Formats: sequence, C-alpha cells, structure tokens
Amino acid sequence: MYSTMPAEPLTIARIVRHGSTVQGASTAATWNGSGFDRATYAEVGARAARLAHALRSRLGVRGGARPQDHQAVVGIFMWNNNRHLELSLAVPAMGAVVHSLNTRMTAAQLAYTVQHAGDEVIVVDAGLVDAFAPLLPLLPPTVRHIVVAGPGDRGALDGFAGEVHDYEELLAASPADYPWEEELDEHTAAAICYTSGTTGSPKGVVYSHRSIYLHCLQVVAPNRYDLTHRETIFLVAPMYHVNGWSIPHAAFFTGADILLADRHLKPASLARVIEAGRPDFAAAVPTVWTGLLDELDTRRRDTSSLRRGFVGGAACSPALMAAYRDRHSIELLHMWGMAETSSLATTALPPLGVGAERDQAYRASQGQFPVTIRFRVVDPDGAVVPNDGVSTGELQVRGPCVTDAYHGGVDAPPQRPAEGFTADGWLRTGDVGSVSADGFLTLTDRTKDVIKSGGEFISSVALENALAEHPAVAEAAVVAVSDDRWGERPLATVALRAGSVVGFEDLRDFLHQHVEPWMVPERWAVVARVPTTSVGKYDKRLIRDQYVQGQLD
Ligand code: ADP
Repeated sequence: MYSTMPAEPLTIARIVRHGSTVQGASTAATWNGSGFDRATYAEVGARAARLAHALRSRLGVRGGARPQDHQAVVGIFMWNNNRHLELSLAVPAMGAVVHSLNTRMTAAQLAYTVQHAGDEVIVVDAGLVDAFAPLLPLLPPTVRHIVVAGPGDRGALDGFAGEVHDYEELLAASPADYPWEEELDEHTAAAICYTSGTTGSPKGVVYSHRSIYLHCLQVVAPNRYDLTHRETIFLVAPMYHVNGWSIPHAAFFTGADILLADRHLKPASLARVIEAGRPDFAAAVPTVWTGLLDELDTRRRDTSSLRRGFVGGAACSPALMAAYRDRHSIELLHMWGMAETSSLATTALPPLGVGAERDQAYRASQGQFPVTIRFRVVDPDGAVVPNDGVSTGELQVRGPCVTDAYHGGVDAPPQRPAEGFTADGWLRTGDVGSVSADGFLTLTDRTKDVIKSGGEFISSVALENALAEHPAVAEAAVVAVSDDRWGERPLATVALRAGSVVGFEDLRDFLHQHVEPWMVPERWAVVARVPTTSVGKYDKRLIRDQYVQGQLD
C-alpha cells in the first residue's frame, strides 16, 4: 500500500522560515564584553534573507536543488556571534554549503580544508583578520571573495588577489525577503565540517538537509537538550565544532533563545555571560567546564538560572560532575558524539528509581543511544560481542545522521577508507568500550590512546577519572609511552589547582585506592595546563611527542 503522505523535503529553509516567523520573538544575543547585542529571530531571519540575496546576486554564489548540481561552498572564519548564526542559516537555506572554519587550526591545515571543500567565498570576522592573514598566500584560486564582518582594520587583507567586501554594506543593499529554497532535494549538501585532524589530514563530513533536520528532531527532545521556546541555551562550544553541536539550528527549530560569547571565552567572561543572560543550559567540552569551575569556586557568581550543563567531546570525570552538583547545584549531563555522528549522539540521563549509586554510574557513562543510531561492539577478531555492559571492543554505528563516507574533494566521489568504515557499511568510531542491555555506552579509550601493558589493557579514562577525584588535581591526562619491559606503560600528566602542592608518591598512593596496583603509573609530569587540541580536548599526541623529546619531567 502506498502511504498517503507527501515526500515533502526536510530542509533548513523550513527551519529558517519557522524560526523567523512562528518563533520570531525569540532572541539571539552576542556578548560584547559589557552587555548583549540582541536580535529577534525575525530580525535574524530578515538579515539572513538579505545575506542570501547578496551572496547570490553580488557574489555569484550558486545553490543547487539536487545532489548532482554544483553547490557553492561559503567558508566562515568567525567567533560565535549573531552574524555567524545568520550565515549558518542563510547559506544552506539558499542551497549552498556552509563551511565553518576551525579558527584554531594551523594555516596549512586551514588551507587544506579550504581547497578540499572548494570554498568560493570566505566570510572573516573583522576581529580575526590578522589571524586569517597567514592563510592568504596559501588560498586556492577557487576563493574569489572575502567578506569582512564588523568594523576594524582590514589592511592585512591587501595581498588578496580577489575582491574584498564589507558584510554590512552587502546586507544594506539587499532586500529583506528571500524565496527560501523549500523545494530543494533534502539529500543535497547543507554543511561541511572537518575533524580536527589530530591524526593525518582533517577529514570532511558533509551533512545533508535531511540529516541536519533529523538530528535537530533528535537533539531537542527531553532526554537530550530538552529545548522549547521557554528555554535559553548558551552555546560555548565553537560553531566550527560539528555545526555548534546542532544548537544554532535547534534554537530556530524550537524558538529557544540562544546566547553566544563571541571572543570572550575566558572563564570570568563565561561566568558574566551566565549571570547577565541567565541561560537554563550551556554546552561545552570538559576542559571549559573545568576552567569555569575554578572561577565559580573562587568568586561569587550568580549561576542560579543554569539547571544543566551539556558536556561532551571528551570524557567528563565523575569528580567534575560531583563538584558542579554539590557546590553549584548544576547538573552536568554527559554526552558522546563525533563529527561523523552529526555531533551529539548518546546522553547519560539515568532511568528513575535506580538508587543513588547506580544513578552515578549511569551518569558517568557516555550515555544511551537514540532511536536514530544502530550500534554494535566488535572485538579485535571481528566478532560482535553481546551488549552486556562488560564485553568490550570497538564501537561501530550507523544511521541517518551518521556519515557513511568522507568528502573526497572537489568533483571527487566520497571516500570510504577501510580504517573508517566496515565493508558492510558501519562507521568505525575508533572508540573502545562496552554497551549495556539498556543501550548505555561506556568508553574506556580511543583505539589510538589505548595503553597495552604486558598484554593487558589499562584504561586512560579510568586513571584520569580517579586522578580527578584528588583535591589537588585540576586536570589529568594519561597517555601510553613505550616501555622496555611491558611494551607500554601509562604516563600521567597533571596540572595542579592554584596553591596546591602534592608529590607523585601521594598521587600514586591515592590511585592505589582506586585502581589495580599494576595500573598505577610510574611516570609522572606536572604541567601548568594540560595542552589541548583546537577544539579543547587534551592533546594526547602532543603529550606523547613532548615525552619522547624529553620535554616532560
Ligand atoms: P576530533 O576527532 O577532531 O576530536 P570529534 O569531536 O568528532 O573530532 O571527536 C569525536 C571523538 O571524541 C569521539 O570519537 C570520542 O573519542 C571523543 N568523545 C566525544 N565525546 C566523548 C565522551 N563523552 N567521552 C569520551 N570520549 C568522547
């Protein structure tokens, strides 16, 4: 029997139309250092419409209605702010592809992603022009236009061979309504994101309108971000990190107000944004939550509006969750996801009535899978192990919001490298762990971070979580280093809380209370801050390199 329902496409144009009309009174607010620059979603929608006109008629940006059409790619080199939000909505809604550039990548890595994605236009924040300048000599000829957003000196762009435009001038000269491409095929590309490239070249994941729409449906649900038009959400994670964890789209989808911090990312500034903007929720990686905790512990700040903090991108220790819960009445909700899974996938919301101890164990896990994701755990021999919460192996996933290939480059077909995808079409996450019968994932490591000592595995996450319980420890990262006798042994790199003094022997004694004696590291290093990657995760590769080069003692 045929269904009687139409195949109406699920597109970002639909989200933009809904957000700027039905949810038109909701607001996006960017922190300027002393207050907020606010716009209603109706205003954001009108500016997005002007932008789409300008991109099309002034800069020749072409959209495509079907996957086989040419679609222009528009790069964005910006902080999280209202203009970035306008771009993230306008570019896909007009049928082009939005590419948020990771502002913390090296110039060489950025040039690779610009060339590989085929960017034709790049919009640069006026405040980031100097940071962008080293990229100019490396830009491929496909980049014909640079648009500067905001006031400021743009002399650093003088060497650019193409045209330089002013964002506000382009908008002012364009009408505030646009026939959003509602009829474009939902399988066309909407956005491209590159992984941070900690191993090899960055890999590009291309999201379709449909995948973003379905992911929005998934993340706004009560057991994920729990967003309605009554909430305010503070997006701290950068928009270049997996589409800002889908929060910009989810805000327009639901009418939740959104707060953005622009360049004001120090813990003291984040605390001021929370005090002044009174969000219900905030989303950031664990290192950001760790930095903010110090600020909240040392200065009186009003965080009473903040009910929940979303934490993902790397493992969050139970100690960090407990500190927020006990000292600041904020619930940190643990999540796992990847660029390949459209960001947020699992959420560690415990079932009711399981008792305090199991509640904590559920919260410490990476969380429960959503309906859109099929998952399996595969042992090193390729056998699927039972979901019993004990059997471990590599996590493999698939679903409508999980990529089944990487972008192959301009005019090249998608790539499915064997190390990334199985022959039967599952994504190999590179994460190692177990899944319980009720679908909760517990990760012990990434494949490339596993510590194999004398034939047995030591979980770096377990050691990091245990160290985080020590009152003197602010940050802890554990990596594998080679060892003549055992093959590999753990090296613990720790940053201490301000004013704390503790010896390695004390830390070793402390670990003996938490893990098996043979797992306790012999090698230790104290650092001022554990180094982080461009998206704020502990940079384990760099730590290993520093150790090998004798730079850690
Ligand atoms: P990159 O590979 O550049 O860091 P991603 O942000 O896509 O880019 O990284 C995804 C990886 O981050 C996951 O495969 C996993 O290893 C790690 N990760 C994400 N969330 C968590 C979490 N809650 N706990 C442990 N690891 C996590």
